[in-house]
Amino acid sequence: MADHHNGLSFLESVDHMVDRALLSMDLAPDVAEAIKACNAVIQVKFPVKIRGKVQIFSGWRAVHSTHRLPAKGGIRFAPCVDQNEVEALAALMTYKCAIVDVPFGGSKGGLMIDPRQYDRDEMQLITRRFTLELVRKGFLNPATNVPAPDMGTGQREMAWMADTYKHLNPDDINYTACVTGKPVEHGGIQGRTEATGRGLQYALQEFFRHPDEVKAAGMEPDLAGKRVVVQGFGNVGYHAAKFLQEENDCRIIGVIDRHGMLHNAAGIDVEVAYRYRVEHRSFKDFAGGEYTENGAKGLESECDILIPAALEGQISADNAARIQARLIIEAANGPVTFEADQILNKRGVVIIPDAYANAGGVIVSYFEWIRNLSHIRFGRMQRRFDEVRGHYQIEALESLTGKVLPQALKDKIDAGASELDLVRSGLDDSMRQAFQGILEVRNGNEKITDLRTAAYVTAIRKIARSYLDVGIY
Ligand code: NAD
Repeated sequence: MADHHNGLSFLESVDHMVDRALLSMDLAPDVAEAIKACNAVIQVKFPVKIRGKVQIFSGWRAVHSTHRLPAKGGIRFAPCVDQNEVEALAALMTYKCAIVDVPFGGSKGGLMIDPRQYDRDEMQLITRRFTLELVRKGFLNPATNVPAPDMGTGQREMAWMADTYKHLNPDDINYTACVTGKPVEHGGIQGRTEATGRGLQYALQEFFRHPDEVKAAGMEPDLAGKRVVVQGFGNVGYHAAKFLQEENDCRIIGVIDRHGMLHNAAGIDVEVAYRYRVEHRSFKDFAGGEYTENGAKGLESECDILIPAALEGQISADNAARIQARLIIEAANGPVTFEADQILNKRGVVIIPDAYANAGGVIVSYFEWIRNLSHIRFGRMQRRFDEVRGHYQIEALESLTGKVLPQALKDKIDAGASELDLVRSGLDDSMRQAFQGILEVRNGNEKITDLRTAAYVTAIRKIARSYLDVGIY
């Protein structure tokens, strides 16, 4: 969507950010070009008979890189998807996977559709038909190209896609691994739906473990009590806001959706607001805050942390100078344009970039894919074993000391890890490690001053290494 990026298309905006990172590296220009190029993209147009009339739908799937397989990335259902957007998002997936050490290439898909115009049965028909196109053309397969949910898609669509693939490939024993983000009953993994919001929470927690970073952002230490504004109250925005409020004592003072903004300086009860919005489809007349229709203006509200979790191009040269937050953490893909990024960097506003901040989804998708290939739930073999061993440890401790451990401590020691525990632990570890890797790169190169450039340098180094090791052919 070129207009959101002040003349630059979304893809150009991403490429400019990558070029800026390349300036601080010593990489052969041809290797850099090979990394930036989108490997393949298909457009499909297919007919579906809806309410007695044939409608033609357009969809895309871009594969940015195949240096690791499968190529991985969500499928978006939105009215204004186009090829440029899908290519930009596929490129971001390549860098994202590299930053958080997920051994996948980058891909992304989109279907031009307004899902609100169709009922459930119609959506199923359209999704299955789109899947058929992707499978037949080799753009959906557990070994080479694995989609996941994105804007406008969720578990429901992933279940339809997996089922369509299974019918077309009944002899593929790994068919459930053809998409991630499935319902748990259909091969999904615990914790995938919340994963991107959860990952964002872990990223913020990690940021606040580095006092120098917090100070440089001009903020007081401690995540607790920070005033947060969230744009987008879908899967990612809702979960991020919920966890930050419930577990980190952040004050969620603003929530922006496509219709407007809900504001309450004393803090919005996220769960109550979410339920109200599901029922009424808007925050209008919600008693727990003040509602205004100019949502875009809400991005400029006074707050400590701004979480854009809706669309690309929301913070551009038009409004970057008026953003009051000290820290922006990009939950959406590409919410800050290249020009806005430069303005914000000059103003000293710290940005935790999308390619790192919203990687929770792909990290847990990686866990789901492994679970599907191994055909066993994580923890199934060792949970009871750990429980018994914990029990013996408690007994040993109590008999040696002659004291009784408090029950709450006993419960912690003898609990075997559930799949959700393991997923959250793996996600937390991945987010921490990746952030530390980004800081290390930034601190080791005086040409790099911002986290985004450092994140891209981290990614490009790893991808270049893999190209140089096996050669480009
Ligand atoms: P979603 O469809 O669940 O929610 C999108 C939200 O954005 C909705 O609340 C909608 O009301 C809001 N919105 C749409 N247009 C808006 C506008 N103009 N102004 C304000 N709000 C608007 O989508 P999602 O899965 O939460 O994805 C949101 C963003 O996060 C996207 O950029 C997506 O690419 C990115 N992302 C998602 C995942 C994932 O796991 N779902 C992973 C990584 C990145």
